[in-house]
Amino acid sequence: MDKRSFLKIGLLGAAGLFASFLPVKGVASRMLRKGSRRRTGFVQQDLPYAFNALEPYIDSLTMELHYTQHHASYTKKFNQLATELGIVEKPAREILAHVSLYPEAVRNNGGGYLNHVLFWNMMSPTGGGNPSGILLDAINRDFKSFDAFQSAFEMAAKSVFGSGWAWLIVKDGRLRVTATRNQDNPLMDVADEPGFPLLCLDVWEHAYYMKNQNRRADYISDFWHVVNWEYVGKRYALWQKKFATGA
Ligand code: MN
Repeated sequence: MDKRSFLKIGLLGAAGLFASFLPVKGVASRMLRKGSRRRTGFVQQDLPYAFNALEPYIDSLTMELHYTQHHASYTKKFNQLATELGIVEKPAREILAHVSLYPEAVRNNGGGYLNHVLFWNMMSPTGGGNPSGILLDAINRDFKSFDAFQSAFEMAAKSVFGSGWAWLIVKDGRLRVTATRNQDNPLMDVADEPGFPLLCLDVWEHAYYMKNQNRRADYISDFWHVVNWEYVGKRYALWQKKFATGA
């Protein structure tokens, strides 16, 4: 790995990679907003690529609106709520893990904040192809093949009624495909199927309607071309390091 790649992964990838373990505000404010004043709260990290970088699979205008409007709005509201509730110093992961204790708006906006942090990092202009290494081994173990995994993930993404997300998670040491409604996240204590997220796909209409209109299946097919398997593999390695012992 050359120095530039290392820096890119170190500064941009790490923030999202550890988003579900570390205080996101700390990582983001120290690593990504260097030079800015100390601040509290949840920072919307810079996108790790340009708005048009995922063309032709995800169009530039969708990326721009998704990041500058939708994600920015979740981030702003989550900060407001967390400040009002006196929990703004807590890591996002910790708030979501006990989200049933808080008003519904924390579930929606906290989920919206963290889900998009993960989602941006799970895509790359140099993404696509197949996973490798221990991640591929686990996919083959738990789904029989990469093709079978893709079919299961596509089925989950297509079957979300209304707005939600499709996920690849680790649950009880096994990889599973699941889906959540609205901005729910498998890390939440209210999740039907809790687990550690490795890969996610936003299937809200705002994520694809301008390019694909009602054809969600086309958007899902396009997504495979930009999946950042290197990042997903790092998340799996991180899960193993943190939780696999005795799991
Ligand atoms: Mn979205």
